[in-house]
Amino acid sequence: MPIQTLPDEVASQIAAGEVVERPASVVKELVENALDSGAHRIQIEIEGAGKRLIQVSDDGSGIPADELPLAVGRHATSKLHHADDLFHITTLGFRGEALASIGSVARLTLTSRSDGVDAGARLLVEGGHNGGVSPVGAPQGTVVRVEDLFYNVPARLKFLKQDSTERQQIDGLVMRYALAYPQVRFRLAQDDKLILQTSGNGDRREVLASLYGVDIARQMLAVVAEEEEVSMEGFISPISLTRSNRREITFFVNGRWVMDTPLTQAMVQAYHTLLMVGRYPMGVILLNLPPESVDVNVHPAKAEVRFRSPERVFSGVQRAVRRALLAYTPVPNMGLASTWMPPSQPVQRSVDFGWEMAEDAGTVVEQVSSQPVESQTNTTAAPTQAPMPGSALPLLRLVGQVGATYLVAEAPDGLYLIDQHAAHERVLFERLMGSISGVIPSQTLLEPAMVQLTPPAARLLTDQLPTLSRLGFQVESFGPATFLVRALPQILIRLDAGAALRVLVEDFEEDETPLQSELEARLAARVCKRAAVKAGQVLTNEEQVSLVRDLEACQSPRTCPHGRPTMIHLSVDLLERQFGRRGAR
Ligand code: ADP
Ligand code: MG
Repeated sequence: MPIQTLPDEVASQIAAGEVVERPASVVKELVENALDSGAHRIQIEIEGAGKRLIQVSDDGSGIPADELPLAVGRHATSKLHHADDLFHITTLGFRGEALASIGSVARLTLTSRSDGVDAGARLLVEGGHNGGVSPVGAPQGTVVRVEDLFYNVPARLKFLKQDSTERQQIDGLVMRYALAYPQVRFRLAQDDKLILQTSGNGDRREVLASLYGVDIARQMLAVVAEEEEVSMEGFISPISLTRSNRREITFFVNGRWVMDTPLTQAMVQAYHTLLMVGRYPMGVILLNLPPESVDVNVHPAKAEVRFRSPERVFSGVQRAVRRALLAYTPVPNMGLASTWMPPSQPVQRSVDFGWEMAEDAGTVVEQVSSQPVESQTNTTAAPTQAPMPGSALPLLRLVGQVGATYLVAEAPDGLYLIDQHAAHERVLFERLMGSISGVIPSQTLLEPAMVQLTPPAARLLTDQLPTLSRLGFQVESFGPATFLVRALPQILIRLDAGAALRVLVEDFEEDETPLQSELEARLAARVCKRAAVKAGQVLTNEEQVSLVRDLEACQSPRTCPHGRPTMIHLSVDLLERQFGRRGAR
């Protein structure tokens, strides 16, 4: 074949492939355009997971009627004039490719009325062909309507994931932009269902609340740091709040959402030793650097950036996160040597703190899991602070079981309410993990059990067979999706073999493939969850006592392998305050 220049249409479809990969990429480009136009309000409507319709409306500066055809032309932008400008980019867009790309793979309608003009104008583009500009009535701002995405590139359509996945991608994207731009009012609806709405009042914690719920939003820790060249702000999760993957760690660099593994790694590093293996923090951190310190022109979708001094940025992030964590993580209390006495006796105070009894009861329980109590300032005066999770327990004396779910125990420093399921999970987990290096507590089944799995589950399990044998499973492949179980870890012996195997592959797809180093802990945690006593299970006195003893012997007795607290501590001090035994009398 002779060399020939590609027809425009083909060339722009090729280019479009780099910018518009899926519906969420269209949403990203349009939202970024709206933000660049100075919008205060951005509305996003989606139908059919974005394949049927994506419409983004804003109240920004608008596009003058005579510039509409230019806006959809390739390499046409109002944001960049010289090559030098590339190193001082302050807008999200600059490549002038998005609208042209979208117009070549969808039916695009651009309606806009620019600042100070009375009438709006509309332009239709279909398969890369302009339909001409016509006047219309329109409010100030721009409405971009994208219909039938990839209608002319069926191959692309086939590469899209299930609708639910594409929808989630869009939700996740808009959520992140809403967090990054709290001063902009976002509204997202999918198939007429309202997904997200923010007030645009600039309060980022309020946006967090609308995304994750008030509870989580209240717990998130603020990060603020100003270092040479880099300023940072955002929110990170306390160590009591974790996820099973890194997906909820988001970075914005100069207002742009970037996927940057080293940045994510820097944040995860800051939690080092504070989180269970296989657990990750969540958070959103916004970095601001002088534009010339970041190269944003790395990737057509602008999802990657290059830093001039990457090391400085990464260590800055790590320091800032660590500082925020330590500032909020309560320190072990050394003060107040309290004696736990029966309530009938008057309490003797060895120290007089000289403060009035709090009027309102305030916090009722002090959670061991070191949740940052909102009123940090008041609690600094409190003599008893929750110790760091992971620290050893005092010697506990079992009082009994309540609601067939919790154990009550006492110690010199107060009362402990123990979640029997979480506690047992912890005990089993440490046993399983501890014995990996030593003797494998495996028990051979009297008769090997045959277990049939679905083909995807079977594939996952096959990949894990070596790890499984270290955990005490003896499983062999037996036909395409069938397995022969010869031995189980001793702690699982009460489960039926099929159930034990299924536990391992259950939500694996959702979690994607974890790193090999984490796999063992992840599998072990999952197995323990299944094998642990349940809430609602009546335990004999001996069982209760041995659970408490076993928990005391654990290295990290205060959290379950999934990071939830195993116990709540009601300190002597707290009880005294709650009963009005402490304070001016
Ligand atoms: P880029 O954003 O890289 O400049 P686009 O193809 O996304 O390229 O947009 C082309 C041009 O159209 C922009 O430079 C801008 O002038 C104009 N434009 C696009 N969307 C909007 C909008 N929502 N409001 C105002 N102007 C817009
Ligand atoms: Mg753009």
